[in-house]
Amino acid sequence: MSERVAIIGGGLTGLQCARRFAEAGRDVTLLEGRSALGGLADAWTVGVPGQEALTWDRHYHVTLLSDAHTRAFCAWAGSGGSAFRWVKTRTGFFDGSMVHDLTSGLDFLKLPALPLHAKARLAATILYASRVTDGDRLENLPVRDWLVKLGGVTLFEKLWRPLLQAKLGDAWQESSAAFIWATIQRLYAARRSGIKEEMFGHPAGGYAEVMAGAARALEALGVELRTGVAVERISARRDVRLAGGETLGPFDRVVLTTTPKVSAALLPDLLEEERRKLRSIAFQGIVCGAAVLDGPLDPKRRNYLTYLAGEESLPFTAVVEMSAFVDAQAEAGFGGRGLVYLPRYAPADDAFFGMDDAAVRDAFAAGLAEVYPSFTPQRLLAFRVSRVREVFPLPTLGHGERVPAVETSLPGVQLVGAAQVRHATLNANDTLRWADEACGRLLA
Ligand SMILES: Cc1cc2nc3c(=O)[nH]c(=O)nc-3n(C[C@H](O)[C@H](O)[C@H](O)COP(=O)(O)OP(=O)(O)OC[C@H]3O[C@@H](n4cnc5c(N)ncnc54)[C@H](O)[C@@H]3O)c2cc1C
Repeated sequence: MSERVAIIGGGLTGLQCARRFAEAGRDVTLLEGRSALGGLADAWTVGVPGQEALTWDRHYHVTLLSDAHTRAFCAWAGSGGSAFRWVKTRTGFFDGSMVHDLTSGLDFLKLPALPLHAKARLAATILYASRVTDGDRLENLPVRDWLVKLGGVTLFEKLWRPLLQAKLGDAWQESSAAFIWATIQRLYAARRSGIKEEMFGHPAGGYAEVMAGAARALEALGVELRTGVAVERISARRDVRLAGGETLGPFDRVVLTTTPKVSAALLPDLLEEERRKLRSIAFQGIVCGAAVLDGPLDPKRRNYLTYLAGEESLPFTAVVEMSAFVDAQAEAGFGGRGLVYLPRYAPADDAFFGMDDAAVRDAFAAGLAEVYPSFTPQRLLAFRVSRVREVFPLPTLGHGERVPAVETSLPGVQLVGAAQVRHATLNANDTLRWADEACGRLLA
């Protein structure tokens, strides 16, 4: 009889693990707590009063041309090749009074926020960081020390600190240089892999299509997919109890792809020291607004991403216009309407997690009007909020020493997830690469 494997979590990690175990002939059951597959990369529908609803990714997603693992996964799910749309994107920079173009090298040279000497030092910093090959040694170096040494205080205060604050909040102060290094490495991945020019792309139909294709492919491999079933407890003998009381198993192997805190809660039979270690890994969360507009946010600029320089008064940390990236005329469901994401990366105790959707909408709409005066609240057709308290592990100093092991003290119970990815920058490619590597080891 083939080995019975339960995979907990139907995000990209869980889907890839289910695929690899099923391809290796195992009898796989995948259990996902939410009503649909995809996890952070799932799709959702924003209802628009009096109009067709808009279905797209719950969180904004782009794929780089160099994201070989993401592209391979999408192709396996039937969304590869010509079903992938490649786009040259534009970027903006809000300096507190207006949005400047930041797409080309010339835009960068013209940017008034930075003096010329700081621009030269930024170019030198990025070039240097792109050539550093060993990120491990940066894990114990405070990010500020490294960046100030490479680029000086002015550059740090005017550019790096606001960018770090936007993604990591106050935790940037305990963060390591490895985070910025990994971000720069990702941007340079194209050159390393021989691609002349990096491009951004998305699967046609977004992740809704990818997830539907992945479900079909997994079912064809014989995987039993169960959504809307939250796992409540996993025993030392690998019985899996679901919320509602049903118990499955015992399985021969259980692979958890949940965050370390959730895994610790699901596994009460772990050693206390193991549970303490899992619970100690700090994560950043997100409150992400998705706004459907009556058309493009700013028809003149069409920026996909607008960075916000140190605007702590704004309630979100960037402006991401998906409809400047997706062809809003051609892509089914957009119908020429605008789709703008307003992410607020924040710790789990941030006040925005406790606010209702209308309060988040009002705060975010006021902020958006400040950045893009062409936006008025009357242009907002619909708004929906995603709240996730644990999105990515904070790259705090010495994170490498806290990375959880794949094997636990419970035989046949294993952990595979984002917290184990060294130097990750929250992207699907790293997630899938690690899932492949971990499954390869487990199946060897
Ligand atoms: C705002 C945002 C923007 C992003 N942008 C990009 C981008 O542009 N490009 C890119 O490549 N990547 C991007 N990412 C990252 C990408 O989405 C993630 O790297 C990837 O989806 C993580 O997958 P995962 O399976 O490891 O985790 P998750 O997706 O979190 O999967 C874990 C799953 O476990 C389930 N679960 C939890 N508890 C239980 C339980 N008790 N029982 C059963 N199931 C449970 C959850 O519901 C979830 O589905 C972005 C992410 C976010 C949040």
